Amino acid sequence: MGGTFDPIHHGHLVAASEVQSLLDLDEVIFVPTGQPWQKAGRDVAAAEHRYLMTVIATASNPRFSVSRVDIDRAGPTYTRDTLKDLHAQRPDAELFFITGADALAQILSWKGVEELWDLAHFIGVTRPGHELSDHGLPRDRVTLHEIPAMAISSTDCRDRVRGEKPVWYLVPDGVVQYIHKYQLYGPEAGHLQED
Ligand code: ATP
Ligand code: MG
Repeated sequence: MGGTFDPIHHGHLVAASEVQSLLDLDEVIFVPTGQPWQKAGRDVAAAEHRYLMTVIATASNPRFSVSRVDIDRAGPTYTRDTLKDLHAQRPDAELFFITGADALAQILSWKGVEELWDLAHFIGVTRPGHELSDHGLPRDRVTLHEIPAMAISSTDCRDRVRGEKPVWYLVPDGVVQYIHKYQLYGPEAGHLQED
């Protein structure tokens, strides 16, 4: 499951847990993006912060792990490269890419989209406020699943922190504490952001 995870929240974790269970996956690998090309217009918290929050959020689940492939690769993150790197690390594994309805809708605009279908099976999951549709996507390579609705976004979590509103119970406790420890997303957070 790729994402910016800025910060990781319970919407991500429920989606991962639900798909793990539905498909009986051995492992769900969370892959924080390096520089997300779709988000070039805004500041994204430093990759190391996003990576560590993802580790904190997933550490207690024996089936969850976190990969550094995207944050250790220079330049913008493309899912094609993510899947190729994961395949190289686990040549015998069958790969599934978990994505929310909003990201799935954008997938046709991704670079090298034709290549993607050979690299992984895509799992689209429902997300409140977004229509889940496989329109234009190859039926045999994309599967859609309804999951428990979690109306949470990282954007809303960042806005809440900035507005001094709580993010308790939207993100795991350890992530709340991490955000406060490093003063992420607050008015003073500028010096912690990547260029
Ligand atoms: P932002 O608001 O910064 O875009 P986000 O909440 O959309 O953050 P991302 O890191 O962009 O989180 O998303 C990573 C993946 O998780 C995407 O495939 C996205 O569709 C999916 N996702 C995020 N939130 C949810 C949710 N509440 N329910 C289902 N899927 C989700
Ligand atoms: Mg998003």
